[in-house]
Amino acid sequence: MTEPTRTAPAGTAAESPEIDLDVLRTIGTPLDGQVPDVPAPDAWDDRRLHYDLVSPNNRRKFTVIVVGTGLAGSGAAAALGELGFNVECFTYHDAPRRAHSVAAQGGINAARARTVDNDSVDRFVKDTVKGGDFRGREADAYRLGVESVRVIDHMNAIGAPFAREYGGELATRSFGGVQVSRTYYTRGQTGQQLQVAGANALLRQVAAGAVTMHTRQEMLDLVVADGRAQGIVVRDMVTGEIRAVTAHAVVLATGGYGNIYHKSTLARNSNATAAWRAHRRGALFANLSFIQFHPTALPLSSEWQSKTILMSESLRNDGRIWVPRKADDTRAPGDIPEDERDYYLERRYPAFGNLTPRDVASRAARERIDAGVGVGPLKNSVYLDFSDAIARLGRDTVYTRYSNLFHMYSQATGDDPFETPMRIAPGAHFAMGGLWSDYDMMTSVPGLFVGGEVGWGYHGANRLGANSLLSACVDGWFTLPYSVPNYLAGLLGQPPLAADDPAVTEALADVDARIQRLVSNNGTQGPDRFHKRLGELLYKYAGVTRSPEGLAQGIAEIRALRAEFWADVRVMGTGDQLNQELERAGRIADYLEMAELLCLDGLDRDESCGAHFRADHQTPEGEAMRNDDDWCFVSAWESPTTSDAPFVRHDEPLAFEAVPLQTRNYT
Ligand SMILES: Cc1cc2nc3c(=O)[nH]c(=O)nc-3n(C[C@H](O)[C@H](O)[C@H](O)COP(=O)(O)OP(=O)(O)OC[C@H]3O[C@@H](n4cnc5c(N)ncnc54)[C@H](O)[C@@H]3O)c2cc1C
Repeated sequence: MTEPTRTAPAGTAAESPEIDLDVLRTIGTPLDGQVPDVPAPDAWDDRRLHYDLVSPNNRRKFTVIVVGTGLAGSGAAAALGELGFNVECFTYHDAPRRAHSVAAQGGINAARARTVDNDSVDRFVKDTVKGGDFRGREADAYRLGVESVRVIDHMNAIGAPFAREYGGELATRSFGGVQVSRTYYTRGQTGQQLQVAGANALLRQVAAGAVTMHTRQEMLDLVVADGRAQGIVVRDMVTGEIRAVTAHAVVLATGGYGNIYHKSTLARNSNATAAWRAHRRGALFANLSFIQFHPTALPLSSEWQSKTILMSESLRNDGRIWVPRKADDTRAPGDIPEDERDYYLERRYPAFGNLTPRDVASRAARERIDAGVGVGPLKNSVYLDFSDAIARLGRDTVYTRYSNLFHMYSQATGDDPFETPMRIAPGAHFAMGGLWSDYDMMTSVPGLFVGGEVGWGYHGANRLGANSLLSACVDGWFTLPYSVPNYLAGLLGQPPLAADDPAVTEALADVDARIQRLVSNNGTQGPDRFHKRLGELLYKYAGVTRSPEGLAQGIAEIRALRAEFWADVRVMGTGDQLNQELERAGRIADYLEMAELLCLDGLDRDESCGAHFRADHQTPEGEAMRNDDDWCFVSAWESPTTSDAPFVRHDEPLAFEAVPLQTRNYT
């Protein structure tokens, strides 16, 4: 494979935003998502019925690699192990349960409809498709809704301690973008409890000998031979050893790429290297610019902080969001009378109020902050106020619902939300974009599957709160265990790729060369500096609001930053030892490539939809204006292998029958 660094073409520089879209990208071929040709509500039943099976006594003849042990990876590895396949499972963490899913707070949706509030699978699908602004697959949303019922029962059965009502039924609450109560939760630590349950199920298979667990191993490349994914290259993060592992199929469950923005709500170590390396080996990357900015992140307090902290969306059940009506109001929040407050979400979107979807809530906050009425020392936040809820429900009830979130907030800020409103602001959070996959979760590289946030599926241009833990569980427990065997059935009798196959040797050499280049570069700047600058750039040009000029400028500046990185990055130490600076440098190098395509995707998509808000496509009221005539498709990108060739955009057309195309309306 050629050197993956795509340098700036001659003539482009950070100062020059003159970028011709038609030079940057060409249009490829339409993609087939392989959705069965039946009405969307029936697609999953139809597909499952027609999947090929591998009989129990043949399953041990197949080896499947699963990278990642979050909710998607632990589910897939445990389920495939339980079925009888040999599973090799990898994580860069020191234990499977430390995967990033552990950080999820608010809850997991399910259309079980046990609350008598008129919920149903159809309503779940309607909310999800509409919430994603009609840029996801309708049939995917149906699978999510249908399997959501099993997910809750299953996770409950394997030990997730969901909150319960007085009578013992599982309790639910509401999340943004819906008017029913379908979110199952464990206070503000739902992800932790689900992750512990999932990781324990995985470890049970490890103990049974079905899964071999490899911790502290980072996947740095994909092995593609004969056009199929047949292995991965990993680096032992403790010893530095680089080796290849081959298998019949590879599942990536490696999480999202929100950390490309540097200051995001994700764990510091979350990264996109596995997905990006797979992309460089041919897997198409979809909708990169669809990034969710979470409206209830904590505001930045210093340019030197390394991340932002999330306050769960569940807080919007009882917290009211407001700003002072007049700019530069220096009074303490409690001294500002009711008629001088602007509860702007309740004012603009009375039907959903504080529970509007995230993209809408973030945009409205950004608009108020930009209008000069932001609060806090840097005037970069809005209030999330619990005083009404405390007066109405009592302190004990509010404490019971949100205690750990209130503690977390107090520890991070020194303020007590019982005494003064929280301050919140939009922060980079969830990647709706990801590796493109068909209805079977298989990428454009046969044998390479995705599960969870690393994929593009389900959420369109904006994810509804509590739908991600769900999609990770549905993929891991109830989709990949059907679709991977369907693929393997056609390979019966074939051994895994030989360890000395030229494709293996080439991938190993590529990884080694890249590491050597990083450690011997002898520049003057550590990798983190580049990451910080990249994040600032992306917030500026590909943030809550985008413009074509800004995105073009972003591409020019990213190219210049990438060139500077390779000219001047300094990585201390060697590749033969524990070297966290080297780990970070490799991930940041990948972000520097990916960021260009992220901006290009946003520049190319000449409409506003969901979280992709282009200032040049908005209604007089400031709402997103979709263009269904020209843009009702998924963009799935192919990167060039040489610096002078254009990116190629392939399209998967989207059709909506059960939930007809309509303008979103939350008023
Ligand atoms: C603060 C926060 C709160 C959230 N709260 C909610 C919520 O309440 N409800 C909801 O639905 N969603 C929530 N989300 C989103 C949700 O948590 C994630 O989308 C979801 O957990 C992702 O799960 P996953 O299995 O896809 O990946 P992850 O849990 O991110 O796991 C990724 C795994 O891949 C491994 N990995 C990655 N790269 C490599 C590599 N190169 N080599 C080896 N291993 C690798 C990691 O070690 C890890 O095991 C929240 C997100 C954040 C940041």
